[in-house]
Amino acid sequence: MIVTLPDLPFAKEALEPHISAKTLDFHHGKHHKAYVDNANKLLEGSELAKESVETIIEKTAGDPSKAGVFNNVAQAWNHSFYWKCMKPGGGGAPTGPIAQKIDADLGGYQKFVEELKNAGMTQFGSGWAWLVLHNGKLQITKTANADTPLAHGMIPLLTVDVWEHAYYLDYQNRRPDYLATFIEHLINWDFVNSCLK
Ligand code: FE
Repeated sequence: MIVTLPDLPFAKEALEPHISAKTLDFHHGKHHKAYVDNANKLLEGSELAKESVETIIEKTAGDPSKAGVFNNVAQAWNHSFYWKCMKPGGGGAPTGPIAQKIDADLGGYQKFVEELKNAGMTQFGSGWAWLVLHNGKLQITKTANADTPLAHGMIPLLTVDVWEHAYYLDYQNRRPDYLATFIEHLINWDFVNSCLK
């Protein structure tokens, strides 16, 4: 097994009422697991199987003949990262080094909130909104489908999954409410700070 399915870093009920155990059952147990299983199936017997997940992502990005591998491996990585970006009782204004860096690079927490919401809302269809480090500076960005900042020379610090499977059972079509809740109640700033080092 090159690509693995990590346990959730919290109990399945721990994010309620913001994200239900039912959503996590499907999202982690079915969707994330399927990406992991498909990735391993596609990598079986391939030269790429010797590489790390991050290297596989870099080596297959933008190669149409490797789209299946890229999509499944990148989705597996994105989801493992996303789980770590949330914790029960999280969200709100950050503390630690990331707080100062948000002030310096993004113009403050309110700007960060606006920009992250905007990235999540304007990602047409499926994808991800991100806080990344790009050439040493913070940037808000978004990626479509399985695409990931790792494939674009950026260091991911925080992500929010805006595929419908991330919120549909709890929020139906209300992506703005899911994004607002993620920001106000779920962001694990300790993890974001740990990525900044
Ligand atoms: Fe997802």
